[in-house]
Amino acid sequence: MKILTTVKEVREYVKNARMAGKTVGLVPTMGYLHEGHASLVKKSVAECDVTVVSIFVNPTQFAPNEDFDAYPRDLERDVKLLTECGADCVFHPEADEMYFPDATTTIVPDVLSKNLCGKTRPIHFGGVCTVVGKLFNIVTPDKAFFGQKDAQQLAIIKRMVRDLNFGVEIVGCPIIREEDGLAKSSRNTYLNPDERKAALCLSQAVKLGREMVLAGEKSTKVILDKMIKHIEKEPLAKIDYVQAVDMSMQDVDTICGETLFAMAVYIGKTRLIDNFIID
Ligand code: AMP
Repeated sequence: MKILTTVKEVREYVKNARMAGKTVGLVPTMGYLHEGHASLVKKSVAECDVTVVSIFVNPTQFAPNEDFDAYPRDLERDVKLLTECGADCVFHPEADEMYFPDATTTIVPDVLSKNLCGKTRPIHFGGVCTVVGKLFNIVTPDKAFFGQKDAQQLAIIKRMVRDLNFGVEIVGCPIIREEDGLAKSSRNTYLNPDERKAALCLSQAVKLGREMVLAGEKSTKVILDKMIKHIEKEPLAKIDYVQAVDMSMQDVDTICGETLFAMAVYIGKTRLIDNFIID
């Protein structure tokens, strides 16, 4: 597996793959990889001839009070996992390779980025869109793979690709969970043993909500109330939001069409997200 750090090297690598008639898949990540990331990489390996995985803790999507410095990093471990998954190339740039110090152009997503995570993280999705847009221009993938774990991010990226005519197909992949239900996340490493137990309230609320929908409940308020009450029983949990929205990320009162039930909950200092989608 190739490990590349410069834009020039990646362009050259992709150019050679294309000249050999190969299709290219991209999996953008921030590293400290787990089975959730691995599922995206394996899907890309299955669907594309060449898989490029980017590992870049993107500074522009973190606010100053957030965990950019503390975000876990372990390139050696990531490289081992990616080799096992069959990835062909890792792109691991430094921040100054990705950003010109006097850059003036960014991608600013509009309405979809205002609700849910965008309320507490107002600059987050602008940073995500800008870095993902740059990665699309650098790697020029045929397909790019994103997890439904970050459902709002997936919706925003799909809309960005449509609106700005990026020539890439976005493939959404299901949430991978621990055996006890907790959605896998690099941030789970922040949790101490008590918090790890408390964090189960998110996936339990997801299960509860999904069961109510399957039982025929159509009122999102009734479903959300039940989910919120469940989370509030956990003393270490503090709700950021629990909401039901359509695929334009606008709140809905009644389930009709595709509906996303999404939540962000602080467990101690760690902010975790989870969700389910009703089609
Ligand atoms: P991150 O490294 O957290 O930026 O995530 C990189 C990609 O992996 C994103 O598309 C995430 O949605 C996806 N991802 C993270 N955790 C999971 C998970 N538990 N299941 C599926 N995809 C995931």
